[in-house]
Parts: sequence; C-alpha cells; structure tokens
Amino acid sequence: MTAPVSSSSTRVTRAWDVLHGVLDPEVPAISVTDLGIVRDVVEHGDGLEVVVTPTYSGCPATEVIEQAITDAVNAAGLGPARVTQRRAPAWTTDWITPQGRERLRAYGIAPPGSCASEATGANVSPIRLMARNVDCPRCGSAQTERLSAFGSTACKSLYRCVACREPFEHFKPI
Ligand SMILES: [Zn+2]
Repeated sequence: MTAPVSSSSTRVTRAWDVLHGVLDPEVPAISVTDLGIVRDVVEHGDGLEVVVTPTYSGCPATEVIEQAITDAVNAAGLGPARVTQRRAPAWTTDWITPQGRERLRAYGIAPPGSCASEATGANVSPIRLMARNVDCPRCGSAQTERLSAFGSTACKSLYRCVACREPFEHFKPI
C-alpha cells in the first residue's frame, strides 16, 4: 500500500478539468466527459490512471480517444497518465450528459433518445421502439425519415427532415 498523496484531490480535479477539454475525434462538438466515457480518475504514486469505458465496441475511435486523453493529461503536467478500460457495465448513450446532448443538437446531430425510459414501459413492443421518431436537430420537426442505417460512422445513422429537407445524422441510442 502506498500512502495517499496529499495533493491528490487537486491533481485529480485538475485532470477532470483537462478531460472536459478533450474532444471526441468523431464528434468534435462534445468532449469525452460529455460522452460519459470517463468513469474515474485515480492517482497512484507513479502517475494518474484514467478509467475509460469504450463506447461502441470495436469503434475505431477508441484508440484515438485514449491517446488524446493521455496526451492532454501529460501536456497539463499531471502525468504520467495511463488509460485503462472498464468494460462493465457497458457504456450506453444514456451516459451522455444533458450538456453533451445540447452540444450534439447544436452541431446538427440528433441526440440519442433514452434507452432507459424506452425500456421501462412493459407494453412497449420492439416495433414501437423501431418506429420512434427522431426530431430534426435544425428545425425540431418530428417528420423525419431514415435514409441509411449508417452515417459518417457506424455509431450514427443518416436521416432527412421532411419539413426543412436537410439531411442530418442521428446518434444511435444503445
Ligand atoms: Zn428540419
């Protein structure tokens, strides 16, 4: 057992501040903390451990994100930093913060609906879940149609708004 470091809380708090500024490489409008993938920051005698739960398994962005986190913490003089993965419980889009959802919408991406609230209704059939409307992030219209199951990345699908005719991406709820 190593003795607790007296500056621990300050160093960890500063690391969180740094992490708030580390952007998702795929959606640069939101940070890794907006996404909710940073689960913990732990100070050890030999550096900082940042515990991350990857988003979509196999998402190629994960490695990029981990490198960006390590670089940012080291650049702030808080390192040496290392990133470890915590795969259980699995990340869900419910972990995206309200601020993150607003940032997605402002960026033109329809934020994911809540998986949790959809799952609570006992009589909700899978078909109804499939038919759930995705509101246009630009004009707010619920009259939208899905063009493709995959947008610029596998994490998003491509929609078009019937009202304003603009295509947009929808962050898939998982
Ligand atoms: Zn629209």
